[in-house]
Amino acid sequence: MELDRWIMQNEVPLRLGFFFAVLGLMALWEVLAPRRVLTVSKALRWVNNLGLVFLNSVLLRLLFPAAAVGMAAFAAEHGWGLFNHFAVPYAAAVVLSTVALDFVIYLQHVMVHAIPALWRLHRMHHADPDFDVTTGARFHPLEIILSMLIKFAAIVVLGAPVVAVVIFEVLLNATSMFNHGNVRLPAAFDRPLRWLVVTPEMHRVHHSVEDDEANSNFGFNLPWWDRLFGTYRDQPRAGHEAMTIGIHRYRTPREVSWLSGMLLLPFRGKVSDYAINRRQWNNPGHGD
Ligand SMILES: [Zn+2]
Ligand SMILES: [Zn+2]
Repeated sequence: MELDRWIMQNEVPLRLGFFFAVLGLMALWEVLAPRRVLTVSKALRWVNNLGLVFLNSVLLRLLFPAAAVGMAAFAAEHGWGLFNHFAVPYAAAVVLSTVALDFVIYLQHVMVHAIPALWRLHRMHHADPDFDVTTGARFHPLEIILSMLIKFAAIVVLGAPVVAVVIFEVLLNATSMFNHGNVRLPAAFDRPLRWLVVTPEMHRVHHSVEDDEANSNFGFNLPWWDRLFGTYRDQPRAGHEAMTIGIHRYRTPREVSWLSGMLLLPFRGKVSDYAINRRQWNNPGHGD
């Protein structure tokens, strides 16, 4: 298809364009109306968090040069997956694939919290002691690779159209930067908006040091999965400005804000420490 070919040829500039546009807008909003005071300097955060984004992008291009859109085109050529096998109207296939991919990402997020070895990778995202636009792009390279493999599997099973995959990737990237924004969003706007998309007020709850709060609001794009599956939480107990963000155990800038510390974070502590950590989370202040 003509559109597919154009999208595949221009995927990188398309995605970079959206990335920098959303990053710029959110950064401006954070300067004009910040929600919380940062605990470490913005310069330190931007250099290290965005350094990691650069590293992840290079790594993904090297490992998977054709990326997720390449997988969608490959599945289409071979007639693999639901939407390539059954005659579904094109627009329906695009919308259903985009929504289904979002559901898969929700399930993946619940899984990386539930499985101790995977939590080690994902806790790097949570160890950020602050919550701003750069947190939204801060994931361990191993989690990024795992996520890409899960996405490949989902695309092949669904037979997701190339357009749906690009829409999904651009949306996920943009909403992730939006919903990690350290921005003031009046309740009058937040209330209706959080029925359509995950807002910063909704996702901030997920970054709480409190165990029960961190195990809620797993959605990235669509807020419906949390409401449907009972993981939705309206507000943090301590309020958005007083709540503590991060994880109890790792809090020094060298461990959680420097790129080197972030990369090493999954490998710190014994595997058996997990049970102890969990108990400590339920009783903050006991031994952490
Ligand atoms: Zn999480
Ligand atoms: Zn997050």
